[in-house]
Amino acid sequence: MDINDFSGQARLDACPGALQVHTAADGALARVRIPGGALTSAQLRELADCAATLGSGVIELTSRANVQVRGLRAPSEFAARMAAAGLLPSETHERVRNILASPLAGRAPSSLVDVRPLVAALDRGLCAAPELAALSGRFLFALDDGTGDVLSCGADVAFLATSPSGGVLLLGGVRPGLPVGVADVVPLMLVAARAFVELSDGTAWRVTDLPDGPALLAAHLPHTGPTPEGAGTVPQGVGVRDAGTVEQRDGRVALEVVVPLGRLTADQAAVLADAAPEARVTPWRTVVLPDLTPDDVQPVADRLAEAGLVTVPGTPWAGLTACTGRPGCAKSLADVQLDARSWAEQPGQEPGDRPVHWAGCERRCGRPAGEVVDVVATPTGYRVAGRTEEEGA
Ligand code: SF4
Repeated sequence: MDINDFSGQARLDACPGALQVHTAADGALARVRIPGGALTSAQLRELADCAATLGSGVIELTSRANVQVRGLRAPSEFAARMAAAGLLPSETHERVRNILASPLAGRAPSSLVDVRPLVAALDRGLCAAPELAALSGRFLFALDDGTGDVLSCGADVAFLATSPSGGVLLLGGVRPGLPVGVADVVPLMLVAARAFVELSDGTAWRVTDLPDGPALLAAHLPHTGPTPEGAGTVPQGVGVRDAGTVEQRDGRVALEVVVPLGRLTADQAAVLADAAPEARVTPWRTVVLPDLTPDDVQPVADRLAEAGLVTVPGTPWAGLTACTGRPGCAKSLADVQLDARSWAEQPGQEPGDRPVHWAGCERRCGRPAGEVVDVVATPTGYRVAGRTEEEGA
C-alpha cells in the first residue's frame, strides 16, 4: 500500500525493534530504542558484547539516536540480554519509545531546561499507557532544551524550551506551537500521542501523513495560554555536527566524538564504555561523553582516536552516512560503505555544510531528514544530487 493511501485500512508498520526484528540479507536486524540517547557504561558494554558474540560485531547509530545490530544469530537471546540490561523495559511498547533529547541538556551553558527528567517521565508515561502501544514505530518525540539542536530532527511532537520555566509544543514542526510550562510538557505530549492514535486509526504513521495533521491534532489539545507569535514551519534537517569539546556549566567537559559512518565496532564501544560512566548517542552519528574532568579529556580523546573514533573538529566523517549496501543488502548496486570510506580517507577532504548520504539504490535507507547530498549507486557508477526529503530510523 502506498504511503499516501488513507483509504482507512491499517498499514503494516514493519519498523524493526528488539523483538520484532527485520530479516535482511545478512540476517536478523534488531533496533533498540534509546530514549534521549542515554546509555550507561554497563549498557554500552553489554551492547558491545552482544554485537560481538551474537551479531556482526558492529553497533549502528541511527538518525534518531537509536542503535541497531545486524546479522543476529540468536535474536531471542539478544532481546533477553537487552531486557536484562534495562534497554527493553516494555515488550508491548518497545518500538514507540522514540524520544530525542538535546544531548547536553542541563550541562551546556546555553541549555535553558534540563530535559533529562522529562525524557524519563515521557518514557514511563508511554509505556504505562496500553493504548499508546498502537503508535507507529516511526512516531517521534523530541525534547529540546532551548538550543534548537533536536528541534529540526523531524519530530511529530516536539517541546522547545524558550525559558527556564517553559516553552512551546510543536506538532509536525509547525510554529508557533502551543505554550506549555515545564511541568505540563509530558502530560501534553501524552495527550497529543493519544489524539494521534485516535485520529490516525491505524492509517497514518506520522502527523504529517494525516491531511492537515498538525492543525487537526492541535484542535484536540487544551490551549493553556495565549498563542505565541510567529507562524511557519521549522526547517527540517538533521544537519552536520562535528567532533569537539564543550565546557559544561559545572566546569567539567563534554567530549563529542564522530563515529565514522555511524558504525561503532564492539571494540570502540568498549573503549567508550571504559572512558566515562555515561555516553549519549546523538542523531548526528556522534557520541557525547559528558562530565569529564578537564585533565581527563586529552587522555580519553587519545584512547578514542587510537580506537578509530574522531575527536577533533574539521573531519570529513562529520555528517557522512551510508546505507548497508553490499554485501548486507541484496538490492545494493555497490559496496557503498567501502566507497564512502575511500572517499573520506582521501587527503584534503573536509566536512560539508550538509550531510552526505551514500546509498546502494534509490531507496536511500537511513537517509537523514532534510537537505542532504545524495550519492546513489547506479549500474554505471554514482549519481550525486542534493534533495530535500524526510526519512528516519
Ligand atoms: S538503500 Fe537500497 S541498497 Fe541501501 S540498504 Fe536500502 S535497499 Fe539496500
